[in-house]
Amino acid sequence: MTVTISDDCIACGACESICDAVFSIEDKAVVNDGAVADNVDGVKEAADACPVGAIVVE
Ligand code: SF4
Repeated sequence: MTVTISDDCIACGACESICDAVFSIEDKAVVNDGAVADNVDGVKEAADACPVGAIVVE
């Protein structure tokens, strides 16, 4: 599973609140790729919660 953040990110912090093992906020959200495999449910929940649909899960 690959997780990327699109330029639509508004750095709202929701994804970090839901799954801070994977997401952290700098100018926009950044992904800790090494933590994705152990946090699949959290990643999916964050992607669903993102207000601008910026979390792309492939
Ligand atoms: S929830 Fe979406 S808009 Fe908010 S910081 Fe995360 S990726 Fe960006």
